[in-house]
Amino acid sequence: MNTDPKVAIADIEAARARIAGAVRRTPLEVSPSLSARCGAPIRLKCEHHQVTGSFKIRGAANAVRRLGREARAAGVVAVSTGNHGRALAQAARAEGVRCVVCMSSLVPRNKIAAVEALGAEARIVGASQDEAQLEVDRLTAAGMTMIPPFDHPDVIAGQGTLGLELLEQLPEIETAITPVSGGGLVSGVAAALKARKPGVRVIGVSMRRGAAMRASLDAGAPVLVEERPTLADSLGGGVGLDNRLTFRMTRDLVDELVLVSEAEIAAGLRHVYFEERQVVEGAGAVAVAALLAGRVVPAGPTAALMCGANIDMRLHHRVISGEDVDLDHADYAAS
Ligand SMILES: *Cc1c(COP(=O)(O)O)cnc(C)c1O
Repeated sequence: MNTDPKVAIADIEAARARIAGAVRRTPLEVSPSLSARCGAPIRLKCEHHQVTGSFKIRGAANAVRRLGREARAAGVVAVSTGNHGRALAQAARAEGVRCVVCMSSLVPRNKIAAVEALGAEARIVGASQDEAQLEVDRLTAAGMTMIPPFDHPDVIAGQGTLGLELLEQLPEIETAITPVSGGGLVSGVAAALKARKPGVRVIGVSMRRGAAMRASLDAGAPVLVEERPTLADSLGGGVGLDNRLTFRMTRDLVDELVLVSEAEIAAGLRHVYFEERQVVEGAGAVAVAALLAGRVVPAGPTAALMCGANIDMRLHHRVISGEDVDLDHADYAAS
């Protein structure tokens, strides 16, 4: 593991070469409808077509491929109910490395099945993420390597390869809009873009419900926020009170961090479906949502990131059918 708490452009370039065979170069498509609405040329980075349905495979593959011989033999472990677990399972399987994903007993069966289908061992422990974390602690004490979802230099460098791709696909890029939760994605993308083209504006988007990075930036240090159900479930969770990298990198590299409401995310999902003819998850729609709601005013050639596809299709159907889905009140159980 890289113990120097910095991610340099050289690390991101090395990651690019390291993960080349494990990830797709996803398309960057012109959006005529958003370009007309926003008065700037808008392109959509179709990272929802990435292996395992999200960008998380970039960081996971980089972290797994950087493990030494002994660490590979012992295997990797994570706490995750979502895209990080899938990505780590896939990255580990590709390298013949054992992978254990710890989840609480509250996690729906389909999420457990998704991780198992990728060859990982799902370990169901306790009734909370904290109890699942205790199991991770036991496994790491026994020699396995924990790969966290965002606050790790190899993970950030892997996500940064997305920034390098944007520069190749759109050298004239002036604005990049990316979703933010723990900040691994935006930190990597901003590190890549600003190193190569310092004038690029990087704008982060979180959901209003439980915007941990926004609250932490406002407080000047990582803080806890209340977690609430949201359409952008992949953006849930905190930044970690003991955050080492992504809080600082986001603070120093990201130009703006805006918030979108649940109704705006729903409008984003509908736009992506009806106008772009794509299916994305809630987190994958927040960049588009911020543009549609006028929370981001794009200047010059702009890339908005659609970062994930893993949504419950029944929920997606309800949203694009125009139903007012408020997960705080609906009887819909997140699955
Ligand atoms: C993990 C994830 C995010 C947030 O990434 P961070 O690095 O935690 O900011 C956004 N969208 C999707 C689809 C994700 O899986």
